[in-house]
Amino acid sequence: MAASLAIVNGQVWSRPGLSAVAVDGERITFVGAGSLQADRVIDAAGASILPAFNDAHVHFLMGSRSLSELDLHGVATQAEIERRIIEYARGHAGQWLVGRGWFYSAFPGGMPTFGLLDRLVADRPAYIESFDAHTGWANSRALAIAGIPGAGVLKEGALLDVTRHIPARTKAEDLDALRAGMRLAASRGIGSVQEAGDGQNQLELWTALRDAGELTLRVRLAYDLTPGLDLDAYNGLPRQGDAWVATGILKAFADGVVESHTAAMLEPYAGSNERGDPIWGPDQLRDAVRDADARGWQVQVHAIGDAAIGQALDAFEGTTRGRRHRVEHIETPHPTDVARFARLGVVASMQPQHSDPKLTEVWRRHLGPARATRGWPWRELGRSGAHVAFGTDWPVVRLDPWASLQAARDISRDDAIRAWTEGSAYAEHSETNKGDVREGMLADIAVVDLETGEVKATVVGGRLVYEG
Ligand SMILES: [Zn+2]
Repeated sequence: MAASLAIVNGQVWSRPGLSAVAVDGERITFVGAGSLQADRVIDAAGASILPAFNDAHVHFLMGSRSLSELDLHGVATQAEIERRIIEYARGHAGQWLVGRGWFYSAFPGGMPTFGLLDRLVADRPAYIESFDAHTGWANSRALAIAGIPGAGVLKEGALLDVTRHIPARTKAEDLDALRAGMRLAASRGIGSVQEAGDGQNQLELWTALRDAGELTLRVRLAYDLTPGLDLDAYNGLPRQGDAWVATGILKAFADGVVESHTAAMLEPYAGSNERGDPIWGPDQLRDAVRDADARGWQVQVHAIGDAAIGQALDAFEGTTRGRRHRVEHIETPHPTDVARFARLGVVASMQPQHSDPKLTEVWRRHLGPARATRGWPWRELGRSGAHVAFGTDWPVVRLDPWASLQAARDISRDDAIRAWTEGSAYAEHSETNKGDVREGMLADIAVVDLETGEVKATVVGGRLVYEG
């Protein structure tokens, strides 16, 4: 039997007694036991042989760009944020200072103040996004360029008013960013990512990497679905793509986030009369989804508040079941909506790291105790028969499947791995090729020590793309 690559002396995940895998070209040709001959043999040394992780919801280009920007992710106090901004500004010249990642909870009151960034960065425009990319913090130079008087904190769509003035990266810079992002993904055992939006703007970058034979990661790109958009706008773009750069899905936002009171809730936020406005009018989302569904598109809808989740599910009522439409995030569903996912055949796409107690202090305060206990019910959704897909939402949280598996501790590790592999493959209509270590499947494999989380090797399309 000819084999280009073999992995031996491991434990094939969910296949007790099997320890070895052979690959020829880009597919798995044998799963069994014993020693194998191949051009390249990898000794798993007892580690688990998993399907490569498939991140069902990520902002990969944004994350890749952020690898070279100011990073405030995880910084716990305002004093430390101030220190890092000053230090970064000293060490980095540039027309603008751009960064991301701050936590709402680092600031007393849950939001940075206007004058603060002026004091820290006075010599140039500065713009720093919150960790969830739903709130922007700008100094007055940046706001003056954008023609916005007053407030220093911008929410949701208003971010664009500033970000469109930030000098654009060149294509070469973006390709370099994606290369760095791909190296990081390979080191974490990730073989596929599903880019949640902006796909129409990224096709050129990803196809350039594909055509140059540089991809070490498969990507599925979602084109944006926004209120008022005529879907004819996408007539000239690929409708399916291929196994490396796939398409076929549209991404819509039904609401924002709890932290800035922009998630659409059925009842007001705790201590407030705001409940967050849905982004789409009462029938508008349903009409857009029906139009997309009739044209053969799969649709994924960002919905965090209970009102937005209900609106998304209402929009999916009566659509084509085989499309596998999806709701993204599902942070605070109304209890009666949980069972609708399985009934409608709607995929639950969730990101366990969002539930990390370090990230949810402001979230819990804004919801109040009763609603805060209903957060992130992947266990209930799974039990009800819904298809659950896991991802990170990088750069909102770290690009780290292992951290995600730890965060989903109320389900078994096998169930969490299944959501990260088979579940995300189902969510992108690729379960016949990905999500299992089985003869005939694409050779997308991660060798992981499930005691420590250490990734020992990552194989994508039969190619060894990372070795630890
Ligand atoms: Zn996202």
